[in-house]
Amino acid sequence: MEKLVIIGTGCSGLTAAIYAARGGHSPLVLEGTHPGGQLSTTTLVENFPGFPEGIDGPDLIYKMKQQAERFGARFEYKTVTQFEQRNGHLAVLADGEWIETKSLIVASGASARYLGLPREQELVGHGLTSCATCDGAFYRNVPVCVIGGGDSAAEEAGFLTRFASKVYLIHRRDSLRASKIMADRVLANPKVEPVWNTVVTEYLTDEGGEMRAVKLQDTVTGAERELEVKCVFVAIGHVPNTQPFRGHLDMDESGYLLPNSPGTSTKIPGVFVAGDAADHVYRQAITASGTGCAAALEAERFLAEHG
Ligand code: NAP
Repeated sequence: MEKLVIIGTGCSGLTAAIYAARGGHSPLVLEGTHPGGQLSTTTLVENFPGFPEGIDGPDLIYKMKQQAERFGARFEYKTVTQFEQRNGHLAVLADGEWIETKSLIVASGASARYLGLPREQELVGHGLTSCATCDGAFYRNVPVCVIGGGDSAAEEAGFLTRFASKVYLIHRRDSLRASKIMADRVLANPKVEPVWNTVVTEYLTDEGGEMRAVKLQDTVTGAERELEVKCVFVAIGHVPNTQPFRGHLDMDESGYLLPNSPGTSTKIPGVFVAGDAADHVYRQAITASGTGCAAALEAERFLAEHG
């Protein structure tokens, strides 16, 4: 029987792990399918306090993990697919093995959303991706496009200009949702060409099954055209990774977990939630870390009260 299991190794899970480990609880941290969470696929993080020059996302995650390990957190590369309540304790199914625990922090984050077009999942890895830092370097001196208008799209488009000959930034409206500093920076980049009021309606491939172009539709005029690109980077937000808790924990219609207010506890004693899995409003590294800390403190209090 574990004392505390933490699901997720993004900022929230790792911060929870640091606090819980430092509190002497030796938490078991399950890494999931995307170890390190969203920061592990980002570039420079300029707004995490304490790093005046910025810090690379993967670097920040690596340091947080080291910090948690230093205090005794244990990490396993397992993914949780099911949750159960059993005779006063909790259990999660991770890679086919049930792990029983007295308390649980769900910090499972959110994963990239795709458009939902036909053949989309088949094309991932063949010119379709949601991760510029992972795949950008494969597309040197060729045109690519980014879909989306938020901070992620702005950041990815800027990053891709290091490699691509041209980066089309395709957005369904006529202004970016991204923060002003990031929007201004990306639109000032001569390699970035915004394509306003436009949606992608089809992915077009060559005989080898690799991305060749996208079919575009103007949302104002309805006009259609093709745009030649070798890779499509989708940056249209995220969906929370909360499927195992459906029917057990309260969540909104998009699947974001709804903790008791105020705090990180839920209607199941001993289950706490943190980070993007329970936050569709702020979704920042620092707020994820903040709720990770809060969840660990609440879990510690729960463990003290329940022996
Ligand atoms: P987001 O802010 O939710 O933006 C998603 C974008 O995708 C929006 O522009 C949206 O269009 C568009 N979109 C959504 N569904 C679409 C669809 N089906 N077809 C076409 N376009 C669609 O998501 P995000 O950019 O991933 O950012 C998430 C959070 O992380 C934000 O809080 C952001 O501030 C933060 N973030 C911060 C940084 C940083 O500070 N360095 C970097 C990345 C992300 P509309 O605008 O029309 O809604």
